[in-house]
Amino acid sequence: MVNLEALWQFQQKDMQVDQCESRMRQDPTRVKLLRLKNYFKEQQDAMKNVENETERVGKTLAQAQSQYETLQVRVREQAQGVGQETLETAAQARAQLAQMRDLLGRLTTMEQRLAQLMRDLNKSGRDLRAARQNAAKAKNDYTQIKTQYDTIYAEQARELDALVKVRDEAAKDIDPALMDRYQAVKKRCSPPIALLRADQCGGCNMSQPAVVVSAAKKGERIVECETCGRIIYVRE
Ligand SMILES: [Zn+2]
Repeated sequence: MVNLEALWQFQQKDMQVDQCESRMRQDPTRVKLLRLKNYFKEQQDAMKNVENETERVGKTLAQAQSQYETLQVRVREQAQGVGQETLETAAQARAQLAQMRDLLGRLTTMEQRLAQLMRDLNKSGRDLRAARQNAAKAKNDYTQIKTQYDTIYAEQARELDALVKVRDEAAKDIDPALMDRYQAVKKRCSPPIALLRADQCGGCNMSQPAVVVSAAKKGERIVECETCGRIIYVRE
């Protein structure tokens, strides 16, 4: 005969432990803390991204400035040339004028580019300050809530310890092979033992075939529900 009564009693204690752990995981203060921790990390990542972006824009800006200066020198030289050279034909004069216009056009484009880069750089600076502020606030909030949670957790941990002790006490007299079977079923569905009610599995409510019902009633071996796999217990 398989004695399922002790295992059934153990399951009650085991479920109380699981429920306590589940409550602890879902504790609103704990959830809030985890959210803050993630948010803090996001802001840190954002800061790193903005820092990289700032460095990149800074380099581009330095290059653009140097190009702009070279261009300015060329414009000055060209302007001086226009004054000094004696232009022999109207065609030469037109060509020089066209060259000058081209240079000035490039200078304007370059100025626009520089202005845009400066705007980008300013935006990066603002983003960085915002991310820093957000991160600092999240850290501050975290520290405050953590203190509250430490107290809550200490109490929950005491409750859990007590429940675990009761459960472990109830496990002492259970045959190890039976316990292994229980734990194996529990991995698939919990609670792993279901009562047979009106020839139905108390876990999934599926009607059991006559052969399963009679085997469960005899109690000579462990019988599992054909649908959900729970251990079926006929508790008189
Ligand atoms: Zn079932």
